[in-house]
Amino acid sequence: MNAMEDTQLARTLELNDGARMPVLGLGTLKCSKHPHTSVQGAVEAAIAAGYRHIDTAYYYKNEIDIGKALRSKMQQGIIKRQDMFIVSKLWCTHYAPEDIPVCLNQSLNDLQLDYLDLYLVNFPVGFKKMGDELFPMKDGNILTSDVDYIDVWRGMEQLQASGKVKSIGVSNFSILQLERLLALCRIPPAVNQVELHPYMVQAEMIEFCKAKNIVLTACSPLGSPGRPPELIREDSDPHEILRDPVVADIAKKHRCSPAQVLLRYHVQQGVAAIPKSGKSHHILENIKIFGFSLTEEDIRVLRGLDRGWRAHMLKETKSHPYYPFL
Ligand code: NDP
Repeated sequence: MNAMEDTQLARTLELNDGARMPVLGLGTLKCSKHPHTSVQGAVEAAIAAGYRHIDTAYYYKNEIDIGKALRSKMQQGIIKRQDMFIVSKLWCTHYAPEDIPVCLNQSLNDLQLDYLDLYLVNFPVGFKKMGDELFPMKDGNILTSDVDYIDVWRGMEQLQASGKVKSIGVSNFSILQLERLLALCRIPPAVNQVELHPYMVQAEMIEFCKAKNIVLTACSPLGSPGRPPELIREDSDPHEILRDPVVADIAKKHRCSPAQVLLRYHVQQGVAAIPKSGKSHHILENIKIFGFSLTEEDIRVLRGLDRGWRAHMLKETKSHPYYPFL
């Protein structure tokens, strides 16, 4: 580890608009379903452990509890608003121009915040609006809309101009979609949040984003072992990267855990990571990754595990022309 490695500066990534994003954050998808803890408890434990980046989304339906945790830690004087980097996402049912600010305002209201640090377009495919349905379904298919993500992006640019979001970005966008967006946008996306881990290396995406000055955030950075049963596919599972013997060997060598190996893998490639946990000992373990380094050979070996495997596919939208994972 070099001397710079453990400073606060080294623990953040500079975005293309000048903002700095902590390289490690807490993921919160499905956190509230954990039997022993709530998302509020997880966020409070994370702040106590030193996390300053929290990832949520309109669709996770947990922003009220996250808001309570943030408010409570602010009232205790442990954090100030400006210490935190809060990320949320515009959901696919809210891609019509008039719905974009509605979705943001709901998130801000629930989070008890007057701005977000980063707001992301959750997915390039829009869904039809059917009341409050997050996944409007018919005959086993999600009812998608034909909204163009370029038009959604224009709405994001307006949100940034309003001051209610400091930085704007996308999630689950392919390289082709990023290229089209970069050609047509006024403000380039600061971040693309995509699934990354050694079973889904995405070397081309990492190179592309580096060249275009877009920061990548790894969602499901541990391979999402706790994903809900409906996401476990018989044909390709079990895929538990946390139990991979290659990862275990590297962990043994560095006297750390498999999760810490995977998180170092991301951070050393200049990629932010947002591991989800509802357990305070995992939350603590996952941020203790700044005291050691993987070797270049370790990274090469981990990249060699690539098998193009995804935990999250949203395959019900596969026939849409903007489906990003083909
Ligand atoms: P992760 O890869 O973060 O894995 C989470 C699972 O790993 C949980 O079951 C957790 O269990 C377990 N875990 C966490 N830490 C450890 C540890 N140290 N040792 C062993 N097990 C551990 O999966 P997610 O799919 O949740 O992804 C992370 C975040 O990324 C999400 O929460 C969400 O914020 C974001 N995301 C974004 C998506 C997008 O479309 N933009 C899609 C998917 C995720 P436990 O709780 O028991 O610790």
